[in-house]
Amino acid sequence: MPQGALRRSLVSLAPDYAATSFWAEDAEFPRGSEAWLPASADVVVVGAGYTGLAAARETALAGKSTVVLDAGPIGGGCSSRNGGQVGFSVRPEFADLARRHGEGVATGIYREGLEAVAELRALAHTAGFDCDWRGVGCFYGAHTPRHFEVLRRAADSQPAGLEQQIRVVPRAAQAEEIGSSFYHGGLVYPDDAAIHPLKLLNALYGRASSAGAVAYADCPVLALERSRDGFAVRTPHGTLRAGQVLIATNGYTGPVSPWHRRRVVPIGSYIIATEPLDPALVTRLIPHGRNLVDTRHVVVYVRPSPDGRRILFGGRAAAREPDVTRCVPRLKAMMTEVFPELARVRISRAWMGFVAFTFDSLPHLGSRDGLFHCMGYCGSGITLSTYYGRKIGRQIAGAAGGETALDGLPFTTRPLYGGRPWFMPAAILGYRLRDWLGW
Ligand SMILES: Cc1cc2nc3c(=O)[nH]c(=O)nc-3n(C[C@H](O)[C@H](O)[C@H](O)COP(=O)(O)OP(=O)(O)OC[C@H]3O[C@@H](n4cnc5c(N)ncnc54)[C@H](O)[C@@H]3O)c2cc1C
Repeated sequence: MPQGALRRSLVSLAPDYAATSFWAEDAEFPRGSEAWLPASADVVVVGAGYTGLAAARETALAGKSTVVLDAGPIGGGCSSRNGGQVGFSVRPEFADLARRHGEGVATGIYREGLEAVAELRALAHTAGFDCDWRGVGCFYGAHTPRHFEVLRRAADSQPAGLEQQIRVVPRAAQAEEIGSSFYHGGLVYPDDAAIHPLKLLNALYGRASSAGAVAYADCPVLALERSRDGFAVRTPHGTLRAGQVLIATNGYTGPVSPWHRRRVVPIGSYIIATEPLDPALVTRLIPHGRNLVDTRHVVVYVRPSPDGRRILFGGRAAAREPDVTRCVPRLKAMMTEVFPELARVRISRAWMGFVAFTFDSLPHLGSRDGLFHCMGYCGSGITLSTYYGRKIGRQIAGAAGGETALDGLPFTTRPLYGGRPWFMPAAILGYRLRDWLGW
């Protein structure tokens, strides 16, 4: 049997299987500028994802000539290929943040997390801004009875003035939310939404371009050298002089900015899309078309495709496996654990990207020695990257409204960490063990 056919039969790949993002089927990547690189710009943004494009719009609006450079396609990092699940994404618990930074900072960070969702929602409802926003809500499944009690208590004790709408769903009523008995009840966040990530990228690109920013694809920054009045930005297509530079490379932060690289941990996030299914089956498994996540340490995220014919299932199937097809069997097994009915379904797309975790589980933005940065969304960055991207753009431009609750928080690293997360395979194994034990 030829090797391709053997692989297909082993992991039940569909005949049209491709290791490419499902989102590229009905949307295109922005092309970027085909002009020569200019000799100089007031602002150069490294990385053309949501962060870089949101920031570039602000600096361009403030009258600064702005160039955005990406090593690959515009948005070729996470911003074209994520799960499209939109919700409140601040990771640390409020009490934990308050203990570390005081109640005022914790309140500010939580308020910004809520504002980030509200702003994207408002943008998505603006005429001409197309990101397929669907206000479907999210079901957060409890992996164990104890997790359900923790969720229920958290829903009842939200920080005052920062409440989200939450509905507690006991196991007995769970069938209304999910066609699976895998969970022990959960919470519904009715205000969460689903978007089309590549369409969102195009919409943000359109806004940055119409403000005057110019983005270039396939133009990796090879080195940044400080000069008397800013930076020399070296690329294979020439060197630009830049007054100010923003590092917006998140999980793709590399040797160009070693200080930042030591402060983010790139982790692979992997997704599969099933072959087209009977829409009645999809509706039976996910009755309200909601996003689904759960309380396990090794995260999974699930949603129907916008046309309701496929299920997209994502998770941390590996730490850094570059061949996404090798992760399909594990993802398929994870999916079947939640939805046994999908055991015989074939997989038609698989893809991955690198998200960036930080050592305090918060995003960070600001500047160090004149070099600006904004990164570290810890796996859920659709709302936070567009929000903090806008904020850092204003900080660079010296415009009003750039301040954030994160300003001045230390962006820490760990001894022996240089940017390669050698400890991740062991960490993921440990998390799997904890999930298995139900901790
Ligand atoms: C599979 C997957 C699923 C996800 N699902 C969700 C979800 O459902 N909800 C959610 O909120 N978040 C999700 N995320 C996370 C979210 O997509 C990211 O947090 C967000 O897109 C980060 O945007 P960014 O612009 O900061 O980084 P990116 O979009 O990753 O952009 C960084 C860019 O920097 C470029 N770059 C790096 N080095 C250089 C260089 N030297 N020169 C030029 N360019 C360079 C890269 O090419 C890349 O395009 C997911 C991520 C993945 C991978």
